[in-house]
Amino acid sequence: MGTRKKVHAFVRVKPTDEFAHEMIRYGDDKRSINIHLKKDIRRGVVNNQQTDWSFKLDGVLHDASQDLVYETVAKDVVSQALNGYNGTIMCYGQTGAGKTYTMTGATENYKHRGILPRALQQVFRMIEERPTHAITVRVSYLEIYNESLFDLLSTLPYVGPSVTPMTIVENPQGVFIKGLSVHLTSQEEDAFSLLFEGETNRIIASHTMNKNSSRSHCIFTIYLEAHSRTLSEEKYITSKINLVDLAGSERLGKSGSEGQVLKEATYINKSLSFLEQAIIALGDQKRDHIPFRQCKLTHALKDSLGGNCNMVLVTNIYGEAAQLEETLSSLRFASRMKLVTTEPAINEKYDAERMVKNLEKELALLKQELAIHDSLTNRTFVTYEPMDEIQIAEINSQVRRYLEGTLDEIDIINLRQIKEVFNQFRVVLSQQEQEVESTLRRKYTFIDRNDFAAISAIQKAGLVDVDGHLVGEPERQNFGLGVTPSSTKPGKKAKSKKTFKEPLRPDTPPSKPVAFEEFKNERGSEINRIFKENKSILNERRKRASETTQRINAIKREIDVTKEALDFQKSLREKQGEYENKGLMIIDEEEFLLILKLKDLKKQYRSEYQDLRDLRAEIQYCQHLVDQCRHRLLMEFDIWYNESFVIPEDMQMALKPGGSIRPGMVPVNRIVSLGEDDQDKFSQLQQRVLPEGPDSISFYNAKVKTEQKHNYLKTMMGLQQAHRK
Ligand code: ADP
Ligand code: MG
Repeated sequence: MGTRKKVHAFVRVKPTDEFAHEMIRYGDDKRSINIHLKKDIRRGVVNNQQTDWSFKLDGVLHDASQDLVYETVAKDVVSQALNGYNGTIMCYGQTGAGKTYTMTGATENYKHRGILPRALQQVFRMIEERPTHAITVRVSYLEIYNESLFDLLSTLPYVGPSVTPMTIVENPQGVFIKGLSVHLTSQEEDAFSLLFEGETNRIIASHTMNKNSSRSHCIFTIYLEAHSRTLSEEKYITSKINLVDLAGSERLGKSGSEGQVLKEATYINKSLSFLEQAIIALGDQKRDHIPFRQCKLTHALKDSLGGNCNMVLVTNIYGEAAQLEETLSSLRFASRMKLVTTEPAINEKYDAERMVKNLEKELALLKQELAIHDSLTNRTFVTYEPMDEIQIAEINSQVRRYLEGTLDEIDIINLRQIKEVFNQFRVVLSQQEQEVESTLRRKYTFIDRNDFAAISAIQKAGLVDVDGHLVGEPERQNFGLGVTPSSTKPGKKAKSKKTFKEPLRPDTPPSKPVAFEEFKNERGSEINRIFKENKSILNERRKRASETTQRINAIKREIDVTKEALDFQKSLREKQGEYENKGLMIIDEEEFLLILKLKDLKKQYRSEYQDLRDLRAEIQYCQHLVDQCRHRLLMEFDIWYNESFVIPEDMQMALKPGGSIRPGMVPVNRIVSLGEDDQDKFSQLQQRVLPEGPDSISFYNAKVKTEQKHNYLKTMMGLQQAHRK
């Protein structure tokens, strides 16, 4: 493939008793043929000075058996066709020189059969030797006579007469003849019958239509298509072998032919000379336009001459002196043909249906592998379908808990989940930004830094300190738990940390506020203690901050008073006239003391302000701790509540360390959302899915998901109602 190859040209000399030994000599290499002409013999015809010609070809077949001819000429072309290369074998020469004998052979004598039946035999033999491939064989038999196309196999009962005349059609796949019957043959025998049918028609037509069979071109085509029996193989190859028996090449009409003969002569001369032109053009690598369309012959053979196919020419000649002139002309044609280079290439095609099937199979296989992998690593619950809103909501809550610090890590499940985690980080972040801003807006009035009028107005009102910072007592936030009653049951003091007894399971779970009180004294006592501790620290800091703020405001007021007094002193001094001594201003004692006082006040102010800033940072931190504690308290309460009253005990076993489900594998609210019945169904489904094959997974997944979604929504609504109470 990809290498340029010359057309192979052979000469076959028809056996004769009158071989012109003195004129026709072969080179020792059996490849060249030398013609020597005695000047005196044909002086009248060959009147130029040249008397010696030498033609170098690919082989001279003298006294060669049909067997040898096939071996030399056709065998490789045919075997290459089975590998996907197109091939063309043409017989050229004057009438009677043995073209038909070479191509078709003697139909009545098996031994003398020609290239055509032998090629069919080779094809079927090779197919048998290639069980790895399903190879189909089709044949057609076309005759071109006086620029008209005839289907030599149209007489077959299942073909039927064609209504419209045949036309040559070109498409990206190549050239084909519209209307020409193409016959599928599954065995040698059928192919032979077709060949004989065609031959018979050729002979009959020559009688009934008064056609001279040596005046027509016949093209027998074998079409091959090879699909691998390995179904995963998407590529398949196609090829065709054209076996061409050309019309006699002798120059006709030179002695005043008329009518039919003249017409035939004109067409033959034309088509053969077009063939020659096309071939010469093909041989000339500089030419990019090849005149294929000038006649039916070259047009029909367009993708089989030169180009990407293996091409062989057999020139049939007489070895007799009397035919020397035509022989010379035939040999010239052969040597021109030899110049043509071709670039044989495999005709590979892709089976779209197989490709899709293969991809589907691959997908199923990968899913199966994932399923196996997942079941080995205890991840059978993992699905690989796009996420639904419930799953996304779960991830959102995981991200929130992670940010709050109540969740240590988010388990990696699959790529989709990782992507969604990042996505939810962004969502949560932007939500929090908005929340912070709106909280600030509720508490503070925002003023443009450059709006000096507004700033000074506020300064006057005592709302902003001298450096432009807002001063104000932070609001006392009310952060009750909603379900927390302010009193705790006395008498029911917490026992030592790790010996809490789980409450006995009542038939109907207690209401959440009641249960919460119990929880705070039981398992939640430690976290509740920390929560309270943090809260009292926070309150203490807030008190201090409030006191500091009051002090700052008092100092500020004093600063203002002092400033005013100072201004008054200053204006007084200006009115009385200033004293100056060596560039130093002289001021009275009162003014001096005021200046000192102001300086001191400012120092105080700064120090108090620094304290306030530190306190605020501390408050912020404490607030965060308190929030975190509150969340944990609530979350642990939820878990405790579910474990104590909602989640079935056998499922809790599975959730315990070392149980069949690892923490983080199933989001808590999903487990909660599965009632006992659903959980049973879910595990039953998991057991059923694999044996039935991966095809059933998507079906069951959809089913389970729909049920879970339903349950989740139901549970969430229930919880929300419980919270609202
Ligand atoms: P073409 O098709 O070139 O006009 P044919 O193949 O019909 O010529 O040959 C003319 C005759 O010569 C036929 O009877 C054929 O059997 C015979 N003939 C041609 N070549 C050979 C050969 N190599 N050996 C034996 N007979 C031959
Ligand atoms: Mg013939």
